[in-house]
Amino acid sequence: MTDCLFCKIIAGRIPSKKVYEDDRAFAFEDVNPQAPTHVLIIPKKHIVGLKEAEEADAELLGYCQIVAAKIARERGIEQGYRTVYNVGPSAGQSVFHLHLHLIGGRALGWPPG
Ligand code: 5GP
Ligand code: ZN
Repeated sequence: MTDCLFCKIIAGRIPSKKVYEDDRAFAFEDVNPQAPTHVLIIPKKHIVGLKEAEEADAELLGYCQIVAAKIARERGIEQGYRTVYNVGPSAGQSVFHLHLHLIGGRALGWPPG
């Protein structure tokens, strides 16, 4: 999608600190990190958000979780991390290309705010 910030990041038209890339997924450092590790894992396919995802996207969404788990393993944060979707404006979704937050490297409170 031409007018999407994260599609532009995937295409390299907006710079990012790339963490991982393959034919289906792209991962990069969040520009405003909330923890020592704060990586965004996104499908290359433009999906607006979790509530817009379809059953046909199930494998792709699961794959993004597996990519997050691999990054967490590589970074040695398996003591505790979260993978989070903010879904909709009231939950803080501000970019409308589906993105999985990988947050870790510090103690994480519960419940989240
Ligand atoms: P949301 O609030 O939609 O769940 O998450 C969007 C995330 O994208 C935020 O954590 C924000 O810091 C990050 N973000 C927004 N714009 C950019 C950008 O241009 N580059 C990078 N690397 N992260 C961004
Ligand atoms: Zn997009």
